[in-house]
Amino acid sequence: MEKKQIEQSYEELEEAYHQLQAANEQLDEKYEELKVSEEHNKKLAYLDYLTGLPNRTAFTEYLDYELSVLRKGHILSVMYLDIDNFKDINDTLGNSYGDELLLDCAERLKLALDKNDYLARFGGDQFVILSENIINIWEYEEKIKHIQDIFTKPFTLSLKEYFITVSIGVAIAPKDGNNAQTLLKNADAALYNAKGFGRNNICFYEESLNERIITKMETQSELHTAIAKDEFELYYQAQVDLDSDSIVGFEALVRWNHPTKGLLMPDEFIELAEETGVIAEIGQWVLLEACKQLKQWQDMGYCDIIIAVNLSARQFKDVQLVETVEDVIRKTGIHPEDLELEITESIALDDIAYSIDTIQRLKEIGIKFSLDDFGTGYSSMNYLKYLPVSNLKLDKNFMASIIENSSDKAIVTAIITLAKSLDLNVIAEGVENNEQVAFLKDAQINKVQGYLYSVPVSKKDADDLLEAKGNLVLLAST
Ligand code: C2E
Ligand code: MG
Ligand code: MG
Repeated sequence: MEKKQIEQSYEELEEAYHQLQAANEQLDEKYEELKVSEEHNKKLAYLDYLTGLPNRTAFTEYLDYELSVLRKGHILSVMYLDIDNFKDINDTLGNSYGDELLLDCAERLKLALDKNDYLARFGGDQFVILSENIINIWEYEEKIKHIQDIFTKPFTLSLKEYFITVSIGVAIAPKDGNNAQTLLKNADAALYNAKGFGRNNICFYEESLNERIITKMETQSELHTAIAKDEFELYYQAQVDLDSDSIVGFEALVRWNHPTKGLLMPDEFIELAEETGVIAEIGQWVLLEACKQLKQWQDMGYCDIIIAVNLSARQFKDVQLVETVEDVIRKTGIHPEDLELEITESIALDDIAYSIDTIQRLKEIGIKFSLDDFGTGYSSMNYLKYLPVSNLKLDKNFMASIIENSSDKAIVTAIITLAKSLDLNVIAEGVENNEQVAFLKDAQINKVQGYLYSVPVSKKDADDLLEAKGNLVLLAST
């Protein structure tokens, strides 16, 4: 090979070498970039995007690790914390204020915790706290109470102050589970149970809890098909006029003929039905059935009786309520004046403007409203004058105590005086003996309901009661 040629191929080789080196450097750079973004992605996979707290993945891995090294005789706990009615804040103020609230909660929680705690957010309004080195359960309970307390100060959102509460579910390892999955599932079950008690509650996991939750879920799903299977039945409790001792109406009370559990009372399923929304359907069935029954009685000649029907919170809040009631009246052909709808104080007070408007609209077509269980809720006399209700039903607990308890007697007397001054009819519930009757007569209350006259009975027994109208036989007397 000639020298020149050799020199040329040498140069080419050198050139190729440089190109290779440059490509290598580029590759190195790319590799570095990739490494950084991989770490970044990994970080993202472990972080909650909103609060910057560890997320579910991070928490679960950490919890599994801590459980694997948990020493014999030591305990650790997992606390699920959920903001009560967070959805309402998101719905009314919008998501950005909801986010602001969550950020504020995260900050408050961080301040309330110490080095033994590991805080994470599991998305939504759920925070989870792992606590280690727990010396004894009492001290831990103090910690939980402290956590609840940090929420008592109002939160400022959109220049307004909001008060929130939290519900807490706790599971303790190793007692309630020795791996993250079980422990978290059980803490969640405890939270679900705490929520079931209403707001601002704490619940510790116990073994029977899962069983209870499963039963509850089963009942909820059975409720969905109960109407189609014709398992509901109305019972009727007579309302009696003390002056004439005759029946002036009936309150319709729903029962569930459960295929395996027998006859179930409303307190065993109404709340569940309310939670799942199936109450709307049940309520509609009750209303139609009760009005049909009234029509039947009226057609039999019992013209001067009324029917009282209980409305659940959801039913009362249903924007279609007025139309539904009108529809039932049209279908059954009863006089609207003979239908009384019962709501409790808490339902009426929840959104007083809506309540006034709805009650008024139904009043205009002739329907009366009763405030049920009066005296058990807020009993704020102030709002009574604004609500266009016709009747006030004294709660049965008052009847139970007026004889022995002089302050209850004074309260009832005051309620009756006030009701009369507001032109409201008072109906006494839970009348069980003649002493109570004497008190009521003295207070000039003449409409009553109670076991003394009749327990709630089936349609057939109510027919018999009506037949005996005029010479009503007391079931019990003292
Ligand atoms: P409520 O509307 O206050 O109904 C009166 C409850 O008191 C009935 O219980 C009745 O059996 C009971 N009671 C009546 N007289 C006496 C008495 O002399 N002594 C005692 N200790 N109790 C008496 P029930 O049938 O178990 O109903 C409980 C509650 O369930 C009702 O309270 C009502 O709030 C709700 N409920 C019943 N039916 C329906 C319904 O169709 N829809 C809705 N939303 N709620 C209903
Ligand atoms: Mg009632
Ligand atoms: Mg009542």
